[in-house]
Amino acid sequence: MSEPRHLAIAGATGAVGAEMLLCLEQRNFPVRELTLLASARSAGKTLRFRGKEIVVKELRPESFAGVDIALFSAGSGISKEFAPHAVEAGAVVIDNSSAFRMDEGVPLVVPEVNGADALQNRGIIANPNCTTIVTLMALNPLHRAFGGVKKIIASSYQAVSGSGAQGIVELEAQSKAIAAGEALPEKRVYPRQIAFNVIPQVDVFLDNGYTKEEMKMHFEGRKILHAPDLVASVTCVRVPVYRSHAVAVTAQFADEPSIEAAREAIEAAPGVHLMDDISAAPALYPTPLDATDGDDCLVGRLRRDLVLEKALTFWVVGDQVRKGAALNAVQIAELL
Ligand code: NAP
Repeated sequence: MSEPRHLAIAGATGAVGAEMLLCLEQRNFPVRELTLLASARSAGKTLRFRGKEIVVKELRPESFAGVDIALFSAGSGISKEFAPHAVEAGAVVIDNSSAFRMDEGVPLVVPEVNGADALQNRGIIANPNCTTIVTLMALNPLHRAFGGVKKIIASSYQAVSGSGAQGIVELEAQSKAIAAGEALPEKRVYPRQIAFNVIPQVDVFLDNGYTKEEMKMHFEGRKILHAPDLVASVTCVRVPVYRSHAVAVTAQFADEPSIEAAREAIEAAPGVHLMDDISAAPALYPTPLDATDGDDCLVGRLRRDLVLEKALTFWVVGDQVRKGAALNAVQIAELL
């Protein structure tokens, strides 16, 4: 066991922050001291860690004195403002936001895919976008097995907890109002009704007609897989599911893939589990409920693609609060 560290969590009271506490505890991470930080609204609240109540403090520039590793999950504006203070104080920052992901000199890391990159950091390591992490967990073993991935066409089915705690509040409030025959409460998180509906927009639209979220798979995928020519066409969809993102992926490779070799590659990869037997009754494939609260990304519906040559189509599901954010960050901390 390595030397116990002083950790800080900026955004400790949020959906990802709470999961980080859980992951650190469950994985028995060697923590000497834990500093919990959030906005002034939460200062004075307590959160439980290893049987002890820890008081949450307001995040301030001077919050990082003596901190070895600072986990940030309070949005990109907060990361941009406060991560440099943490680095200046001598901490390594592992950032969950999109603030630094594409910056040169900032490793963008999924430990099972490119863990070694984390060691090239200059004080900041970025955690990738959650949909990208879930997709790459299944794609990486195939990328290695079939000479490199060339093109991806994907559609995501993204849970409301991906929008933070307020996403869940909005889905619940709308569902209750509809069940009671009442008028919908004012929309605060999503541009359309999310209860009993799906919304083909996650994040803002860009000039090319894709959303910012959709382009993350393209740019972040290139960086993480070290595949500068990778092209991804993605449609991200918000669905009325509490937790765990699902992605339907078609991927084209340099070499001819076979289903048998693909199954073997996925089964041998850490952090991914094949749940794929359409001959079973009922047919076996993963749903968001199967992945929720678990560490592994689950893969099913693996088949040869009928449209593209040298291509496979599959379905992957992962808990985006956990592997898509908190667990991935804690695994990066473990690498350090
Ligand atoms: P959240 O539930 O809304 O939590 C936000 C956290 O940020 C809270 O702890 C909040 O503290 C804190 N915060 C907000 N304003 C602050 C300020 N001015 N100063 C200090 N702290 C402040 O959001 P989340 O879902 O946990 O997401 C956090 C980050 O992780 C975001 O960058 C998000 O993009 C990223 N992420 C989220 C997911 C996901 O599935 N949810 C997945 C991957 C990445 P208060 O409680 O005091 O307001």
